[in-house]
Amino acid sequence: MPRALVSLGGNEGDVRATFRAAMESLRRHPQIDAVRASRIYSTPPVGDVAGGSFLNAAADLTTSLDPLLLLDLLQATEHQLGRVRALHWGPRTLDLDLLAFDDRIIDHPRLTLPHPGCWYRRFVLDPLAEIAGDFVHPEKETTFRCLRERLLVRPLCVRVAGGDDATRSRLVADLVDGFDTIECGPWESVKDSERADGEKRGGSPGLLLWLGPGAGRSEFSELPIVPRVDLTAFPESLDVAARYVLEAALGEPRVESSFDPG
Ligand code: AMP
Repeated sequence: MPRALVSLGGNEGDVRATFRAAMESLRRHPQIDAVRASRIYSTPPVGDVAGGSFLNAAADLTTSLDPLLLLDLLQATEHQLGRVRALHWGPRTLDLDLLAFDDRIIDHPRLTLPHPGCWYRRFVLDPLAEIAGDFVHPEKETTFRCLRERLLVRPLCVRVAGGDDATRSRLVADLVDGFDTIECGPWESVKDSERADGEKRGGSPGLLLWLGPGAGRSEFSELPIVPRVDLTAFPESLDVAARYVLEAALGEPRVESSFDPG
């Protein structure tokens, strides 16, 4: 049966009880089997409107549902458990994201797989590495354990590429100012394929944030597939998007408790 990875997050109400109820509802589903849950982690909120610190966890399951039906189930569970969210990135009782589904790569209006943020967000990667460290991210072609470990290097190397000179310099200055655990600079080298990515999304070219250990021009070669985020794909402004990406990549999760599914 196909294997799916799910992340759980929340920071409003009794989040442990909400996680327990979410896990129960997954376990009860006739087309879901063998659900394993990580411990619960306390993680710093990302962004100014997120509210207090979050709890996060991950689940590893097998299912005969197809990916969109599993997404329907996750969304129905979010709503049943009282999710009300006025603000994107705002406080929430429960967020259930589908991170990966076997080695499927899906670009559907309702579902992007693997989840675009799952390779650089510590609040996703830490719980996930605990239960599914060997699972290979089908686009990055490396395991979730490696994706987490590469973010532990300090200072974390960050490069800003694409956009125009002024935007790039302004963003680098903002990030150097805002984060003392990164080593950040502009990067002139943007390949044609990366420009095309940005242009496809209406940017010219995309403004790209590269994340990873190392220094010098070959710094990002440790992953088979490039470790970059296109900031023009975010609904937020470029500087806000960059800040969210780095807060998520740098924020240290702390183990809070073992999951008590009972
Ligand atoms: P959010 O409110 O941030 O949880 O985002 C929910 C929206 O993202 C819904 O419209 C989903 O259809 C869409 N979405 C796209 N890919 C995924 C995914 N891998 N997991 C969960 N939601 C997704």
